[in-house]
Amino acid sequence: MRALPLAAVLLFDTSRQAVVPFEPGPEVRLYVCGITPYDSTHLGHANTYLTYDLLIRRLEDRGHTVKLVRNITDVDDSILPKARELGIDFLELAAAETARFHGDMVALNTRPVFNEPHATQWVAEMVEMVQTLDEKGHTYNVDGTVFFDVSTFESFGAVSGYDEATMIEFAAERGGHPDDPRQRNPLDFILWQPSLDDEPSWPSPWGPGRPGWHIECSAMAKGTIGETIDLHGGGSDLIFPHHECERAQSEAANGVTFVTHWMHCGMVAYEGTKMSKSLGNLVFVCELSKTADPRAIRLALMRHHYRTDWEWFDGDIDAAAELLDRLYAAANAGNGPDPVPYAKRLRAALDDDLDAPAALAELSALADGINHGGSDESAPTILRELAALCGVDLTAPVAPLY
Ligand SMILES: [Zn+2]
Repeated sequence: MRALPLAAVLLFDTSRQAVVPFEPGPEVRLYVCGITPYDSTHLGHANTYLTYDLLIRRLEDRGHTVKLVRNITDVDDSILPKARELGIDFLELAAAETARFHGDMVALNTRPVFNEPHATQWVAEMVEMVQTLDEKGHTYNVDGTVFFDVSTFESFGAVSGYDEATMIEFAAERGGHPDDPRQRNPLDFILWQPSLDDEPSWPSPWGPGRPGWHIECSAMAKGTIGETIDLHGGGSDLIFPHHECERAQSEAANGVTFVTHWMHCGMVAYEGTKMSKSLGNLVFVCELSKTADPRAIRLALMRHHYRTDWEWFDGDIDAAAELLDRLYAAANAGNGPDPVPYAKRLRAALDDDLDAPAALAELSALADGINHGGSDESAPTILRELAALCGVDLTAPVAPLY
C-alpha cells in the first residue's frame, strides 16, 4: 500500500496577508534575524526563536533538511552607544552577550543553526552590494552617507502592505530618520555612513565608515544561503522598515526574488505593558531559568499562537511547570489510550499555520489519558516522541528547583 502524500504545511504569509501552502524543496533555506548582542535574551526573543524552532522540527519530521541562518548584529546603532556607556569595546560586549545568548538557546533546546554570520565579518560583502546598487542607479551619496533611493524600486511597501503615513511613522520609531533633510524621500534609508570618532570603521569607495542596519542582513543572507530564501522570519516589529528595506536592496541588487515566504511573530508584553528596555520590565530567560525548568518556559510560550501579540504574567511559569510535571509522569507511566489519533491531530495542528496551542492541548490530553490508565503500552513512548517534536525532552527528570 502506498502512503498518501502529506498535505502541505499551511502558514500565514505577511506579504500576501493570507494563510497559504508552504511548499519548499527537500532543503529549506530559512533566515531569521538574530540578536543585537548588547543585552540578555528576553522572552520576546525566546518567543521568536522558539517559533521557528518548532517549525524547523516539524519540517525535519516531514523529511526536510533545514538550513537555518540566524545572524548576530554585532555592529549597529544600538550596540555602539551601549558599549560607549559601559566603557568597553563593542566586540567585547558582543562576545559576552553572544555567549549568554548561546547558553539560553541551548537551555531552551533549540536546533543548531546552519550558519551564524556576525555582521562585522561580512562588511566587504555589504560594501560590494552597495556598489552594485550604486552601479544600478538605486543610491545617492550625501557627504559620504549613501542612501537607498526608494523611488527607484517600484514595489517598495509590498512586504508590509502599509500605507505611506504608517511607513513613515514606523521608520521614525524603528531606527530610520524620515526627517533627515539630506534624504530625497522620508522613506529613503542608509546603506553606508561615516563612523563617529570612537566608532569602528571599514574602508569603502565612499570613505571609511560602517554599514546601515538593513544591508547587513541582505549581504549575510546572500553570502550564507543564497539570493533567494524559502522563508524569512523575525518579530513583527521587523516587518517595517527592516524587512521591507532588506527586500528592496536584495532584489534591486540581485535581480531575483529575495524571499518566497515571509513569516512574522507577534510581540510579548508584560502584565499589560509593552516589554521594553526603557521601561525596565524585560523578562530575561537567564533570570527565569534560575527558578524554572527551561522546558516549562518552552511550554509556557507554546500556549500562544505565534501570530498573536500576548502578555506574560508571572504565574504563567507555574502553570507550565505543572504541565511539565504531568507530561513527565505520563511519559514514565504504564499503559494509556491509543496514541495514534493524538499524534495525527498534533501533527495536523502544527501543519495548520503552526498552531502550537492546539498541539500542546494534544500533548496534555494524551498525558491525562495515560495518567488515567489504558491498554496501549506504546502510549508513553509516543508521548515522549511527540513532546520531542515540540522541543520538550521528557527523558530527563524534572528537578525540584523551588
Ligand atoms: Zn535582519
